[in-house]
Amino acid sequence: MGLEITHLGSGSGGNSTLLATETTKVLVDCGFSLRQMELRLALSGVDPQSIDAIVVSHHHSDHSKSAVRASKRWQADLYSNLETAMRLGWQPISEVRTFEGLQRLEISDELSLLPVPVPHEDAENVAIIASNGDGRRAAVVTDLGEATVELMRHLAGCEHISIEANYDPGRLLAGPYPERLKRRISSRGGHLSNPQTAEILVELLHPDLKSIVLCHLSEKNNAPHLAESEVLLQIGDRFNGDLSISTQKGPEFSHHLGQSEPEWISSVV
Ligand SMILES: [Zn+2]
Ligand SMILES: [Zn+2]
Repeated sequence: MGLEITHLGSGSGGNSTLLATETTKVLVDCGFSLRQMELRLALSGVDPQSIDAIVVSHHHSDHSKSAVRASKRWQADLYSNLETAMRLGWQPISEVRTFEGLQRLEISDELSLLPVPVPHEDAENVAIIASNGDGRRAAVVTDLGEATVELMRHLAGCEHISIEANYDPGRLLAGPYPERLKRRISSRGGHLSNPQTAEILVELLHPDLKSIVLCHLSEKNNAPHLAESEVLLQIGDRFNGDLSISTQKGPEFSHHLGQSEPEWISSVV
């Protein structure tokens, strides 16, 4: 059974990732305006009304912005944990289905999602591990200060990993942010730096890991070439799949689980 992973865009201005099997379509996060969400789905050739579920990782607006409105407009089930729902004022049952950490969400026979709690300041954030009907897995991991043992266990064996590479430590240090914010970003509850992401990936390399997408790059404290070169330096010859970068722009490519060639999306807008 197939599973297609498409980033509709990623960064502090908004995040959303489409997971699609033949019969099921789920969005991990819905952090753009409703108009942008619909535009970006259209660019990916997806009718918004065909979205079955929206899973929100945590309450920060770059992940949650239009989620509740989109779920009503598209009649898609909305999922989050209780803390996220409370912080956003969403009504459990009538507006959102709440889940616990590590509670598997059976969206359909072809797609289930496992929310894995990760450390992120002032938020109960989760990484999402998606399994298709054959039990093959893909991961979407953003907004965490470090990888926990539990997360590493669930990432092991995934055939696709989308993971944040938020900042270059040198750029963060020399950059314009106030000291307090710099410390917060680089703390256990902040974001992953390029070297941290590279270290995590080195541990996870295995022959069936076919595609990696680096996402949630800071526009001020990072650059695609810095993130890419740091990761390539670490994983080097041991990885022969595809390494791509998702930016804040619209959808650029899709990955099919188990394949190392991305499919490019030719946007007209
Ligand atoms: Zn974020
Ligand atoms: Zn966040």
